[in-house]
Amino acid sequence: MNNKLCDISKNIKDLLKVMNQQPSGFAFIVKNKKLIGLLTDGDIRRLLLQDTTLEDSVSSLNIQMCEFAYENDDYSTIISKLNQKIRVLPIVNKNMNVSDFVQLDKRSYIPVAQPNLIGNELKYVTDAVLSTWISSTGEYIEKFENNFAGFINMKHGVSTSSGTSALHLALLTLGIGEGDEVILPDLTFAATINSVLHAKATPVIVDVDEDSWCIDPDQISKAITKKTKAIIAVHLYGQPCDMNAIMKIAKKNNLKVIEDCAEAHGTEFEGKKVGSFGNISCFSFFANKIITTGEGGMCLTNSSESNDKLRTLRDHGMNRTRKYWHDVVGYNYRMTNLQAAIGCAQLERIDEILAWRQKIEEGYIKIFCNYPYIQSQNKIKGTKKIPWLVSALVFEKDIDKIIQHFNNNGIDVRNLFYPLSTMDIYQNYAFNKNKISKKLSERGLSFPTHASVDFKRIEEVFKTIL
Ligand SMILES: *Cc1c(COP(=O)(O)O)cnc(C)c1O
Repeated sequence: MNNKLCDISKNIKDLLKVMNQQPSGFAFIVKNKKLIGLLTDGDIRRLLLQDTTLEDSVSSLNIQMCEFAYENDDYSTIISKLNQKIRVLPIVNKNMNVSDFVQLDKRSYIPVAQPNLIGNELKYVTDAVLSTWISSTGEYIEKFENNFAGFINMKHGVSTSSGTSALHLALLTLGIGEGDEVILPDLTFAATINSVLHAKATPVIVDVDEDSWCIDPDQISKAITKKTKAIIAVHLYGQPCDMNAIMKIAKKNNLKVIEDCAEAHGTEFEGKKVGSFGNISCFSFFANKIITTGEGGMCLTNSSESNDKLRTLRDHGMNRTRKYWHDVVGYNYRMTNLQAAIGCAQLERIDEILAWRQKIEEGYIKIFCNYPYIQSQNKIKGTKKIPWLVSALVFEKDIDKIIQHFNNNGIDVRNLFYPLSTMDIYQNYAFNKNKISKKLSERGLSFPTHASVDFKRIEEVFKTIL
């Protein structure tokens, strides 16, 4: 400890020697062994760039008392003083002698999401590289498509470069384009509406249901016109939409249903996995999703006609039997064998991954129970929700301050998506005021959801919110 102390009588050169010792970059300034402040190498750099020289005495500097804690302060008090600005905190006894310090460890930052790649991911990617099949042909592609389709209990899986390209292909395959209206929820990630706009169709943004946070079937019914061709049901944050009501409306009005399952791998509605209800369902395997391939997506369908169309459009519109012959203007929306290799390894452990995601949500719910102002996203009867990001609503408290408090303590807590209709580029597509989406977005938080979430630290932060 003593090697981090610098007496005020020393000169700047001596001070730099202290700062140079491990852990480097700072020194506690003392006078008669009592703490009077903290200087960092950044402070000295700025002074040297002005008039200060290496021979000047530390006492000539304007030293201000720093934040500190007492030896007998409890752990949560000490931790609560550390944040992105105060990264080093001296601990003193009652005589102000420095006896220890705590330092914010950058590695201890808890991100909101983190892929879990501890299985055969590296082995299979290595195998794919060694095979030289690194583009969009190779055995992992077919295996991943078949295994994932099997997992959701669907006939055909068509892997894609992203969840967004999967949605775009689904719309094109179902013949949706200019002049067609597509109903979708206000509360979702923008890729849902962007894909409709890419297909040159007209999005119709409707409100969500207050209990599930997913698209409200009553609002769908109200928004249907002669031009309506499809509904995109987004299973938000892992919560399933009311697929009974949605399929009923679709049948009655002869509409197509695309399920956006980008956040809901493994989620079930009345005993059936989401992604097995609509005409085509779309998944994302971005690194922050429930399982990942880095970037990537997949369309699932039971229709062999749709399967063919999806594949043709994905592969440059090339004729499936006549090489270099193009019947339609297509895209290059393929996944690579390297990505599929990661996907195959993820799928081997999917039951385990889904189980710990549910456990993490239970862990949060236990903490939330102690704080009446916080209420987690509902669990709906008859469903099995696999949380993507565990999310909750906050009442009676300043939500921005709460987010800031978590972020200051190295925990990436975020607000929910903004309603699409509140953004300039989408606002003209709003069907009505969509008050529930706005209310949820203003009150909602998403918490870190991955295998290395440290509940002890999260709880410590909750304790200091007041
Ligand atoms: C992530 C996401 C997408 C897009 O997936 P990408 O793979 O990032 O293109 C689409 N819809 C929703 C609801 C998402 O969360």
